[in-house]
Amino acid sequence: MIIAENVSKRYGKFLANDNISLTVKPGELTVLLGPNGAGKSTLIKSICGLLRYQGRITVDGFDNRSTEAKRLLGYVPEVPVLYPMLTVYEHLEFIAKAYRLEAWQGYANELLKRFELDDKTQKLGKELSKGMQQKVSVCCALLPKPKAVILDEPLVGLDPHGIREIKVVIADLKQSGCALLISTHMIESMEENWDTTYILKDGKTAAAVKRGEFDGSLEDTYFAITEEGAAQ
Ligand code: ADP
Ligand code: MG
Repeated sequence: MIIAENVSKRYGKFLANDNISLTVKPGELTVLLGPNGAGKSTLIKSICGLLRYQGRITVDGFDNRSTEAKRLLGYVPEVPVLYPMLTVYEHLEFIAKAYRLEAWQGYANELLKRFELDDKTQKLGKELSKGMQQKVSVCCALLPKPKAVILDEPLVGLDPHGIREIKVVIADLKQSGCALLISTHMIESMEENWDTTYILKDGKTAAAVKRGEFDGSLEDTYFAITEEGAAQ
């Protein structure tokens, strides 16, 4: 569903992504791991068509900057960007209009309830805590029922209920055949559902591992690979 080939991104002289290739298949959870500054958010922003980059990225065969690709992708940024003067419900209405969704209200209410926002629908963006903003951001991304969902550090700033709900949503999306790309440094949070993990280090792919290729947990795998790299 998502194919990135030889993606490089420079900020001035600094090479933040160095020739990275990855694939995210339908019904699979692909995880991006790596320390702070490894280049995870940069790669995600390139995939979402928000940055200029070198290389080639397609979503279901469409160039990632095309309208077709954008319709297929749902993106939850690392830092939620809400409209301060729109209410929670107006955010969803805005998305529904932008995507020309029909009969979206039932699903919107379901999402709001799931994330315990159903009693906050009239609150303004500027009145929400970071965690609530994150939850609204997730609801907005999921409302158009995208075929591919990209979440950048989705668990940061969420309360325990929010974390549990995100994990359930991830499992449900995967089950429904959605292609998922999630960056995190909370390795254990993806332990149950991951299929492929790319470990980024200093802007490069240090390893690409598939579930079952390694004994032990994803965490063991991560440390084995990053420490192996450090020993060289
Ligand atoms: P991660 O998400 O893995 O923590 P990022 O992709 O945010 O990493 O950042 C990768 C590197 O690129 C970091 O060294 C960061 O300082 C740098 N970087 C990110 N955004 C910019 C920018 N807009 N301008 C210059 N450097 C940036
Ligand atoms: Mg990041």
